[in-house]
Amino acid sequence: MLSITVVYDNYSLESELTPRWGFACFLEVEVCGASHKLLFDTGGDGATLLRNMQKLGIDVRSVEAVVISHAHGDHTGGLNAVLKENPSVTVYSPSMLPVGGSTRLVVIEEQTRLFDDIYSTGALGSFIREQALVARTELGNVVVTGCAHPGIVDILKLVKKNFGAIYLVLGGFHMPKSGISHELKKLGVMKVAPCHCTGIAASKELEAAFGANFIRCGVGARVRV
Ligand SMILES: [Zn+2]
Ligand SMILES: [Zn+2]
Repeated sequence: MLSITVVYDNYSLESELTPRWGFACFLEVEVCGASHKLLFDTGGDGATLLRNMQKLGIDVRSVEAVVISHAHGDHTGGLNAVLKENPSVTVYSPSMLPVGGSTRLVVIEEQTRLFDDIYSTGALGSFIREQALVARTELGNVVVTGCAHPGIVDILKLVKKNFGAIYLVLGGFHMPKSGISHELKKLGVMKVAPCHCTGIAASKELEAAFGANFIRCGVGARVRV
């Protein structure tokens, strides 16, 4: 079982949750009775992140690992607040970050298995190094992206080549050109949940093309696979 809850985004699906530019989601994976909880990105502001998590019933101290997609402030801004509450997490980042204290930082270069069925694509892109998360499920691979600076289509091509069929893509798609829905369908992507930096034009195109397989994303969105 995989569950993803969006805890930080430019958009909010519920009025009591605060929207703000940036992205973070909480993932819980259960494989063979073992459960892992991780945070993918931390949004831009620690107070907003912790408040949204609390309102969504997620205990920041239960998080075992923080995976940072890339070192931009709208994804790393809440990290210090998380570490203050939970200094014993392991942080996986594609570049060095100042974590200090008892926190373990693992700099990711190559494709890496983080937990049962949860992988990092490795650091992609030549200018802005960014990793995406891949969760293997019975329905296919679930891909979570931060800003997708290396290009959403290139990231998904790599995931398809290295992991196989893609069931769902959730996260920032970074304002892809028109025709993105065609590209994703050509790659066999079943469902999309674009948010953060995807842009209105691309989101509308994806919604029209994917219909019932378009998942509205924003703070408060929960996806179970
Ligand atoms: Zn960025
Ligand atoms: Zn971003």
